Amino acid sequence: MAESYLLKNLKPAGPGTKDLPDKVDILITDGKITKAAASINEDATHSSDFGGAYVSAGWMDMHVHFREPGFEHKETIETGSKAAAFGGFTDVACMPNTSPAASSRDVIEYIRKKGEMQPVRVHPIGCVSIDRKGKQLAEMADMKEGGAVAFSDDGDPVFDSRLMRIALEYSSMWNMPVINHEEDLALSRPGHMNEGRVSTRLGLQGSPGIAEEVMIARDIMLAELTGGHIHVAHISTAKGVELVREGKKKGIRVTTEVCPHHFDLTDEEIERTGFDTNFKMHPPLRTAEDVEAMIEGLRDSTIDVICTDHAPHSVDEKEAEFIYAPNGIIGLETAFAISCMRLLHAGHMSLDDVLERMITAPRTILNLPVPDFKEGSQAQLTIFDPDAKWTFTADQVRSRSRNSPYLDRELKGRALGIFNKGELVLAEEI
Ligand SMILES: [Zn+2]
Repeated sequence: MAESYLLKNLKPAGPGTKDLPDKVDILITDGKITKAAASINEDATHSSDFGGAYVSAGWMDMHVHFREPGFEHKETIETGSKAAAFGGFTDVACMPNTSPAASSRDVIEYIRKKGEMQPVRVHPIGCVSIDRKGKQLAEMADMKEGGAVAFSDDGDPVFDSRLMRIALEYSSMWNMPVINHEEDLALSRPGHMNEGRVSTRLGLQGSPGIAEEVMIARDIMLAELTGGHIHVAHISTAKGVELVREGKKKGIRVTTEVCPHHFDLTDEEIERTGFDTNFKMHPPLRTAEDVEAMIEGLRDSTIDVICTDHAPHSVDEKEAEFIYAPNGIIGLETAFAISCMRLLHAGHMSLDDVLERMITAPRTILNLPVPDFKEGSQAQLTIFDPDAKWTFTADQVRSRSRNSPYLDRELKGRALGIFNKGELVLAEEI
């Protein structure tokens, strides 16, 4: 008998579900949806009743750092994939700042092949420049053949404007985006936190919003010139959002993404917590006005995507003094909860709109198919409860690192599991 799953008693939400009944049972055979109807009473090799939880197409996080090859003490493709599945993601795109950097087809294929063994789909992003050095263009065509879905030197900006121009010209031939970590290093360094009132009070050298904004402005102008697609990584300032809004109005191919911490937290957390390094990332946490602008940008679709910038660092590394600690936090396990709390439950966005930013938008940008519920389609689903209350404890971290500002915080909204690659993976069993 073929392997089959009957998922009972689910509430469909998000893209591709409007023709489904309000309550749905889903029958999956050999990884494909064979039936989705109000009530299914067929035998299946596995049957689970979800008691009215929600189901949507599988979520995608288009900005994660899985650290392999090279930094396996922080994260591996396996542990990162577990964190992703726990957080409800069926797909991730991973950034190329590994060692060696993913600037050759070999490394892209290594990541893709390792990803094939995981419960989530791992889509590698290739470097813009050889070894992320920002000097010479990497073999983009070759990496595309190997499975790269976009190009980025993330972790660092593509600082050289001529290189960015050429990268946009090349990538536009395949309709692929260049994702830039927008930071003018001459303005930002050393930049331990956001430059503003709080950094002045704390006596720390700050990285000003303008360092991000001038790079965004440059990239939008280069996208206009070349016809290429610039995707602004992890946007964090109100002025940056305004630049993207204006660029879109002019018909320029610019898209962007925001991380939950940038629509949830401000630089005051660093003062409040007495320099907790789990509030240190780049771009840094900004001000309350910037947080409001992130939410408004999501509401009016200036910001296309919610992503995590999941950036694991070991406990030892993060325990350094604030100015020496590395930038970044993990985010896969908590992204949905923070989105629920700050966007959905706060009344800023509907559940369908939040899901669109995590399902359709990232895949449209990366030219990947959006999962659907049609008979014969690959079953790629996320099962979740936006009202579930839970506390994110160290036990629940599935990442190899635990550098999260949300540890021991009470959260609302949680993924219960995913169905992906022919298997049901329940969060509590990961
Ligand atoms: Zn970055």
